[in-house]
Amino acid sequence: MSTTRASAAFPAGAVSGPMGIFGGTFDPIHYGHLRTAYELLSTLRLPEMRFMPAGNPPHRDATFASNDQRLEMVRAATAGQPGFTVDDREMRREGLSYTVETLAELRAEAPHRPLCLVVGMDAVLGLPKWHRWRDLLSLAHLVVAHRPGWRAPSMGPLGELLVDHGTGTVSDLHDLVAGRIYIHAVTQLEISSTDVRALIGAGRDPRYLMPEGVRRIILESGCYARKEVARG
Ligand code: ATP
Repeated sequence: MSTTRASAAFPAGAVSGPMGIFGGTFDPIHYGHLRTAYELLSTLRLPEMRFMPAGNPPHRDATFASNDQRLEMVRAATAGQPGFTVDDREMRREGLSYTVETLAELRAEAPHRPLCLVVGMDAVLGLPKWHRWRDLLSLAHLVVAHRPGWRAPSMGPLGELLVDHGTGTVSDLHDLVAGRIYIHAVTQLEISSTDVRALIGAGRDPRYLMPEGVRRIILESGCYARKEVARG
């Protein structure tokens, strides 16, 4: 476990305080993502929540919308919310994109800044399949956002990890740069990108499932307007 203390000596111009990192395929981004990110930003007192769209996800099929379209949707969705930023480094990276590499890059850029990787409870259950998953906690904290229908594991490698690294104290995420797991219940919005794509593929309107700017990009580009978008 990393017990390195956060330092006030950030490089000039850098934002201080923990950076939240919200990764996902965002195919498309929707209010389930945005509400979760917003609640964590305010509850954990994060000065920044960085949206990190995945480029070429190792664990799943190719995305339906292109990289450019997904990035445009994430930018449209987050514009105007103080603290929300977008980082497209995973899309620019050649080959497979691994979270641990992204965290290592961010750690090198800001050695003393706490990093808080946000993962949904469903994603955390698949954590042992992630590349070098045991290294993640030496680079960042994990912030686990509850999602409808999921429970924290109490046994197995993940259960043990939670016993060893779990914390219920927000200030740990500010005082240490990495190494803690914080589980936080967020307002449960039963929206998934898969269902949104299926709905659009069936010719229905995704209005009110996502910001209007995102809906407009989807309708204008026609990126999900095919029958096969229901796959997934
Ligand atoms: P798909 O249906 O294609 O799997 P998704 O809606 O789960 O997509 P992702 O881009 O894969 O979206 O998710 C990124 C992150 O957001 C993951 O950590 C996931 O657990 C979380 N997430 C997705 N939907 C919700 C939701 N409705 N509420 C809270 N968190 C969510």
